[in-house]
Amino acid sequence: MPENPRPETRKHGVAVSAGIAVGRAYLVGRDSLKAPRHHIDSDDVDTEVARLKKALAAADKQLEKVKDKLASEHESDYHIISAHQLMLHDEHLADAALGYIRTENICAEWALRKAVDDIAGVFNTIEDDYLRERMSDVEFVYERVLRNLLGRDTGPLSPPPDAVVVAYDLSPADTSTLHKAAVAGLITDAGGRTSHTAIIARAHEIPAVVGLENITETVETDDLLIVDGGAGVVIINPTAATVARYREEQWRQVAAGAQLLTLRDLPAETKCGQARVQLFANIDSPEELDDAIEYGAEGIGLVRTEYLYMTSDALPDEETHVHNATSMVQRMAGRPATLRTFDLGADKLARFLEDAKLEEANPALGLRSIRLCLADLGMPLFRTQLRGLLRASVHGPLRIMFPMISGVAELRAAKAVLEDVRAELRREGVPFDEHIKVGIMIEMPSAALTADVLAKEADFFSIGTNDLIQYTMAVDRVNELVSYLYEPLHPALLRLIGGVAEAARHAGISVTVCGEMAGDPTVVPVLLGLGIQELSMSAVAIPEVKSVVRAMTLAGARGLVDDVLTLPTADDVRAAVHAYMDTLGLAAKSSG
Ligand code: PEP
Ligand code: MG
Repeated sequence: MPENPRPETRKHGVAVSAGIAVGRAYLVGRDSLKAPRHHIDSDDVDTEVARLKKALAAADKQLEKVKDKLASEHESDYHIISAHQLMLHDEHLADAALGYIRTENICAEWALRKAVDDIAGVFNTIEDDYLRERMSDVEFVYERVLRNLLGRDTGPLSPPPDAVVVAYDLSPADTSTLHKAAVAGLITDAGGRTSHTAIIARAHEIPAVVGLENITETVETDDLLIVDGGAGVVIINPTAATVARYREEQWRQVAAGAQLLTLRDLPAETKCGQARVQLFANIDSPEELDDAIEYGAEGIGLVRTEYLYMTSDALPDEETHVHNATSMVQRMAGRPATLRTFDLGADKLARFLEDAKLEEANPALGLRSIRLCLADLGMPLFRTQLRGLLRASVHGPLRIMFPMISGVAELRAAKAVLEDVRAELRREGVPFDEHIKVGIMIEMPSAALTADVLAKEADFFSIGTNDLIQYTMAVDRVNELVSYLYEPLHPALLRLIGGVAEAARHAGISVTVCGEMAGDPTVVPVLLGLGIQELSMSAVAIPEVKSVVRAMTLAGARGLVDDVLTLPTADDVRAAVHAYMDTLGLAAKSSG
């Protein structure tokens, strides 16, 4: 057999996590999806039938979209996908599964599996290897329908070390387990730069490219892959010469990273000495603290505590919160740690939310985040977390932050619960920091536009640009079809950020940017020019951001912002920013 039977192919996607990976493909999905198997009441038969039909139709639509995007030279892929679509309507799969629901009163997932098993039984008797292997196509179709039924992937992933994980999409919880398996890279069909999957990949320094649209259809298990996470390129079945070239680039990047790390103990001060920027890290769990310190974080600007709820089936109890927060505060040894109360919902799911079965047409606009904290779910989730955070506050400078605050009324509602919990702890004689700082995330236009009044009732602001862009541009941050509109440098965004910075300055409170924009070296001069002097990002981004801060002047940043605020489009802004970076002798790398 020839060493490289299939030709080298390149695919372009969204560059989300820099670095180069060379490894074998590990396709995710099939084995990790657990199909529920349970009997249903006769009254529920119609509902289950409708569920399955909906999932089949959704799968069909997704495959149609994949086909639409296939380039003309991929005729064979086109035909395979058409065949998959035909299977969705095939009597042996769809009709048989629908039949099982009706005759055996079983749930849609089980019925579908039974139909697939029947087909497998027939395939197994086929002598011809090629035809027998086509069973994998049936399994692929099954997997896609099942995903639609379940709404997501489930189960822990266990890729071999140095594999490149290839998935339609990965839940943040799955992604967060990947570093432990030491995967080389990650590529997905779906997703955008600020999908939580992308954020986690960056935090774990896993080279990643997302939004590749049909990569799971193109790559086969064990294909050799190169992932260039900085350029957003994936190379399938590279030649030996290509592998050698990328290995060299990999070493060059590692050496450049090591060079940047030498800045660790130097301050993030502008060249003119006029601005001292604070650089913080965004983390999920205490395990990331070592990296944060290693890269020179001056504190933790954002702890996404929702990971406590996402990575375990059990709800975290008060002691878990105390333990988690205390370990962070202690490890940071006097440097501030800002813990955000749980920000669940939309693409961040937890077991209890599945059990609550919230049926929402628009989860990103639904019962999520602080709304969930304040909702009556029959469990004191929010109070439990607040008690834990307050108790941990005796160990060092812990700040509490509420996510997705829409305006003053919601802030007051959240603070009222906090006040109640404080009173309770006082009554119980449990100590906590009476002067604990309580701040909010500014993540939606309603908050940005009322920042002046919010600033009177919050101790600090942190601008969550990932969501602020999503809600300002009305563009789903995880939808690759509209990712071209996801624009950090859109004039609307810059005006909103500038307004929030001004309101905070006027009220004398601090303001951080903690969205992914903060870690984008190209955007940093714009943020400084807009009046931001605290940035919180994936720890790995800190050295490069620091190198930009140390190369620029405050006057230069202000001049740049005076200029860009007059520009009509994000492209114009980007061109101006790139020109400015050139004057600093720094090549602009990303910015959207
Ligand atoms: C943000 O929205 O910018 C943010 C930091 O929060 P998250 O990415 O967790 O939604
Ligand atoms: Mg957010």
